[in-house]
Amino acid sequence: MIVMKFGGTSVADAPRIRTVVRLARERLDRRPVVVVSALAGVTNLLIDLAHRALKGATGVQEIRDRHRAVLEDLGLPPDLVAEEVDDLRSLLKGITLVGELTPRSLDCIMSFGERLSSKVVAAAFRAEGLEARACNAYDIGLVTDDRFGSANPLESCYEGLGRNLAKVEGIPVVTGFIGRDRRGNITTLGRGGSDYSASIVGRAVGAEEIQIWTDVDGVMSADPKLCPKARSLEVLSFAEASELAYYGAKVVHPSTMIPAIVAQIPVRVLNTYRPEHPGTVILAKAPPARGGVKSIACRSRLSLITVTSTRMLMQTGFMARIFEVLGRHEVVIDMVATSEVTVSLTTDTRRDLEPALAELREIAEVEVEKNHAIVCLVGEGIRATGGTLASVFETLREARIRPRMVSFAASNVNVSILVPERSVARAVKTLHARFFE
Ligand code: ASP
Ligand code: MG
Repeated sequence: MIVMKFGGTSVADAPRIRTVVRLARERLDRRPVVVVSALAGVTNLLIDLAHRALKGATGVQEIRDRHRAVLEDLGLPPDLVAEEVDDLRSLLKGITLVGELTPRSLDCIMSFGERLSSKVVAAAFRAEGLEARACNAYDIGLVTDDRFGSANPLESCYEGLGRNLAKVEGIPVVTGFIGRDRRGNITTLGRGGSDYSASIVGRAVGAEEIQIWTDVDGVMSADPKLCPKARSLEVLSFAEASELAYYGAKVVHPSTMIPAIVAQIPVRVLNTYRPEHPGTVILAKAPPARGGVKSIACRSRLSLITVTSTRMLMQTGFMARIFEVLGRHEVVIDMVATSEVTVSLTTDTRRDLEPALAELREIAEVEVEKNHAIVCLVGEGIRATGGTLASVFETLREARIRPRMVSFAASNVNVSILVPERSVARAVKTLHARFFE
C-alpha cells in the first residue's frame, strides 16, 4: 500500500482533481490510500466565516458556490455537498446565537474543508470509473488528544484505524487535518496538518511509502521565492527533514516525520504539476551533503527574551524556575544562550507572552526584543564539517548582517543563527549563494 496525500492546490479545481484521479489510477497496483486537504483557500475562508458569525453574519454562500462550481465542472451533481453545507450553516448560526467561538467550535468549523473535499474527490474517482469512498478520519478511528487546534493522535488509535481502512471497498479518500477526541469532539492537527494525517494513515496501514503531492519539486535547498537558484534535494534524513520543517521550510508539516520514523516508512515529496520529477525522498539514513549543508530555512516573527537574575550570581534553580514558568504557559523555546547571570531565549511572537513574562518579572529582570528571525542551516553531520561556522560568519560579515545569537553545539544536524528580521531574506540569499551557487 502507498499513501498519496494531495494538498490544497492539488485539489483546487476540477482540472487539478482530474490529475489526482489520473495519478492514483497510474498507481493502482500499489493500492493507494488517498488523503486530501481542503480546496486551496477554504480553511482560511472557514476561519473567516467563524469570526464573521461572531459578529452576526452567517453566510455559507462562498463555501457552497465554490464546491458546487467544482462539482459542476466535474460533471457531478452540485447538491452532493448540500448536507455538509447545511450543517455548517447551523453551526455558524449557533456561534452567532451563543456569541462565543471556542477552540473546540473553531476546529469543528475548520473540519468542513476536508469533509467537503474528500466527498468531492471520491465522487470524481467514481465518475472516472474507479471505486472510491470518502472517509471522515474521525469515523474510521483517528482518535486524538483534546488539544484543539494542534491535536496529536493517541498511540492506541493506530490499530483500529488500520483495520477500518483495510475494510474500505475501493480507494479510501480520507480527510486530512482532522480527527476526534475520546469524547467525540472534532479536533484538528494544526495548520498544514494533512501531511501529518498522511503519515498517521501510513503508519496505521503499514504503507510502503507515504507520498506528499504538492506544487513544487520536493524539498528545496532554500525557499525558491528568496533564492531563484534553489534546487530540489534528492534525499534527506528524517532528522534533517524534521529540522527543516520546524524551521520554516513550508513543504511538510513538522510532525509528519514522527509516525514515519516510528514505522520506518519513507516519505516522498512530489510535484503534481510535474509527476515525472523524482522529488525528494526522506529516509532514516541519508548520505551527508558535500559542503555539510543541505538546505537553509528561516523562521520569522520571533522575540528574543533576555532574563537577568536580580541577584548577583545565578543561584541554583534559577534556570529551572525560568523553564518551569515558560513550560507551564506553553511557551515554545527555539534557541537558548546563557551567561553567568543572564539567559537569552527565542520564541514565536504570534502568541501572547504577557502572562508568562509577568510571572518571570517576579524573579528576574526581563527584556523583550521583537522582530527577530532564525536562519537555520541543516545537514546531517554539520558540526563535523570543519569550517562551516567560519564560512557562515564570514558570509554574514560581508553582507553586513550582525548575528545576535548562535546555536551550534547542541545538534549535529543544524546551525541556527538569530538575526534581525529585516535582514533575514538577505541572510538566506547570501548564505545560499555561498554554499550552493
Ligand atoms: N486545510 C488545512 C490547512 O489549510 C490542512 C492542510 O491543508 O494541510 O491548514
Ligand atoms: Mg501543506
